[in-house]
Amino acid sequence: MNHLFSTFISLLFPSRCPICRTFLDRDMMCDPCRTNMTLLADLIRQEGSESVDLFYSLYPYGNASVKTLLFAMKNKGHRNALAFVSEQMARHIRQDSFLSGVSLVTYAPRRPGEKQRYGFDQAQLLARKIAARLSLPCIPALLRKPGGKKQRGLTGEERALNVKEKFIANPHYDLAGNTVLLIDDVITTGSTVKECASVLKLHMGVHKVYAFSFTSPSIQTDV
Ligand SMILES: [Zn+2]
Repeated sequence: MNHLFSTFISLLFPSRCPICRTFLDRDMMCDPCRTNMTLLADLIRQEGSESVDLFYSLYPYGNASVKTLLFAMKNKGHRNALAFVSEQMARHIRQDSFLSGVSLVTYAPRRPGEKQRYGFDQAQLLARKIAARLSLPCIPALLRKPGGKKQRGLTGEERALNVKEKFIANPHYDLAGNTVLLIDDVITTGSTVKECASVLKLHMGVHKVYAFSFTSPSIQTDV
């Protein structure tokens, strides 16, 4: 009965590749798109500045397939997009030696207005999936104060001012001495993750923060 029901649901809502929209029988992405994304993956590690100890990013910013996946996660909460991206990010985290010191995963929470509008927080969904794949806890360590403008369209300086004191420590958690993996779908100028890392360190006693995003224009191999 369960099988019949799931077959019925899959006929009504067939699964599609999050990039090219091809119908899928199985898996979360069609074979050509998976091959393309596997070739595009390139873990970039950059020494941090201020509160973030290390920045990581996996996919080149601006690539058409990467943009499509980012849009699918951010605006649609596309299940296959989140599953594929979390799989790839978790795989590369496992391969990099820094994981041995990481004890928990958290994320930069989405603006309350956006979360209400879209019905989900893509960074939270991504962080949860990555944490599950790594067998680590995903903790909502940060809370976002209401208000604040959209980051898009603002200059770097305006972004830094806009996020200032927008995040607060979740009083339910004591993270003193922990090394935290901070997940975001995209790190644009880095002002959001730096602010999050400051709160984690100054108000929660976190030892180290590693920020890891699916893609980022500000994390470059030559820096
Ligand atoms: Zn495809």
